[in-house]
Amino acid sequence: MKYSELVALYEQLDSTSKRLEKTRFLSEFLRKASAEEIEPVILLVQGRVFPAYDEREIGVANQLVVKAISLASGSPLAAIEREWARSGDLGKVAELLIRTKRQATLSSTELTVKKVFDNLRRLTDLTGSGSVDRKLQLIAELLSSARGVEARYVTRTVLGQLRVGTGAGILRDSIAWAYFPKVAAEVMEQDGKATAEAREEYNELLAKIQAAYDLTNDFAVVARKAKTEGVVGLDKVEVKIGNPIKVMLALKVDTVKEALDAVGRPAQCEYKYDGFRLECHRNGNDFWLYTRRLENVTAQFPEVVDYLKKCVKGDRYILDTEAVGYDPKTRKYVPFQDISQRIKRKYDIERLMMELPVEVNVFDIISHDGKNLTAEPFHKRRLLVESMVRPEPGNLKISTSIVSASESEIEKFFRKAKADGTEGLMIKKLDAPYQPGARVGYMLKYKKVMENLDLVIVAAEWGEGKRAKWLSSYYLACRHDGGKLLEIGKVSTGLKEKREEGFSFDEVTELLRPLIQEQEGRYVKVKPKIILEVAYEEIQKSPTYESGYALRFPRVIRNRTDEKGVDDINTLEDVEGLYQQQKKTKG
Ligand code: AMP
Repeated sequence: MKYSELVALYEQLDSTSKRLEKTRFLSEFLRKASAEEIEPVILLVQGRVFPAYDEREIGVANQLVVKAISLASGSPLAAIEREWARSGDLGKVAELLIRTKRQATLSSTELTVKKVFDNLRRLTDLTGSGSVDRKLQLIAELLSSARGVEARYVTRTVLGQLRVGTGAGILRDSIAWAYFPKVAAEVMEQDGKATAEAREEYNELLAKIQAAYDLTNDFAVVARKAKTEGVVGLDKVEVKIGNPIKVMLALKVDTVKEALDAVGRPAQCEYKYDGFRLECHRNGNDFWLYTRRLENVTAQFPEVVDYLKKCVKGDRYILDTEAVGYDPKTRKYVPFQDISQRIKRKYDIERLMMELPVEVNVFDIISHDGKNLTAEPFHKRRLLVESMVRPEPGNLKISTSIVSASESEIEKFFRKAKADGTEGLMIKKLDAPYQPGARVGYMLKYKKVMENLDLVIVAAEWGEGKRAKWLSSYYLACRHDGGKLLEIGKVSTGLKEKREEGFSFDEVTELLRPLIQEQEGRYVKVKPKIILEVAYEEIQKSPTYESGYALRFPRVIRNRTDEKGVDDINTLEDVEGLYQQQKKTKG
């Protein structure tokens, strides 16, 4: 396939912001592509050459691209810099300069999608000495063969800046329209008048495509199956060790009864560790660790690979686990924030391993010995986990659990879970399948939220980036003897970005603007008037605020200014009372 054909698609996609039009363009294009062309096309329309979970990214620096444009077009660096400063878009600069040059020399061969894809993939593999020169050559080679507009898209792709607006929803729908045109046309061409059956069939199809995507996180795999094997192929899409799968998510409940009513009696109740989700893959001597956001963090947690080798029988599996940090001296669990830096850190790994150790708590299994277990009932998967893991507390173990139908027994277990420094319980349905990527209510979190507080805003900060026009974080205070206001925390979540959606940053900003008393940088002090109801997960002792307490994970619930005055807000005594009460539940 010629690259110019793909570029024509880019131009179509760029020409509209309407989702349906984009879907039509993309699906028509996919229908024409051969099975071999699907992978490069699907990846390149997303501006990448590997699926998102793969850590190999193109990411080339601007300056290298400037040099490549110079090499390919024969224009001096200074001229390119000047054009770039003028238009602000290196893609357009490349297009202009390559076009001017081509009028003089129309010799080189025409670019194909395969050639672009291959060169870009090779770019991601290059490291070490001499790699910059090799990268330069690979890019210049593409630009030299590019026709004007092709140069624009090559440049944008190389810079990781190709944005033609094809999100996951559009890709999914395009696969449906491309390979199941009859089912899709029944719904899409009826202008909302399709029969209920046709709509149901279409929605089922979309759900199948989504399910196949949730297992693979790779639309290229899904599209290829759809094209070559149809619906049957979608059903056959498999988890593949090494490719992350979207993990199953939890819903929240407020009482044990609510949980049992939802998942049935008895239910499996497990400690809810305050760590981070870790998908652990093993295929022989190869290991992969993925976070819930599908980031590959294998290099950051070498000790986890050792634990897997030591404590888990079997050499082909995908385990679902929670890695939780603990204090190496006291061996008590620490909150996620304390160890979160380990996820991103690429250096000093050995030291961090000692200072911020993690314990892996295995709670589920997704694949074993080449068999996809997602359709198996949870209690069977759990039995398998129990037969595979030789626990070593502090390193790797099975999540602490009981199976119970008794509310009082589960409440007791909840208190124990809190006393052991975890967040509460996960309550799980024993006969449920593993549903990747979905909050279907097969596992419920029970954390027991604290009573909300009504607090007044005493100061605020202007936001950054897209929030720059709003006051977007608010310092909150409670009341003390004689009406003195004492700060207890800062909140910046729970509000909407758009007014139509509910209580918004914009609205709070408008309420606060006339109350501003002093401004220093982004910080403003305001007259205490606006009262917010705030939920949170815990009250902590803290020297940061003058009240001596801080709220953990505060979020705004609603505006109470019309109902309450500053004299009616919660007092320091209320906060102290809640803190004591919380200590009792923990103990
Ligand atoms: P939340 O992040 O508040 O929605 O709570 C769900 C998260 O709790 C999951 O995504 C896991 O990362 C974590 N978690 C901790 N312990 C467990 C457990 N025993 N079973 C399942 N998830 C757990």
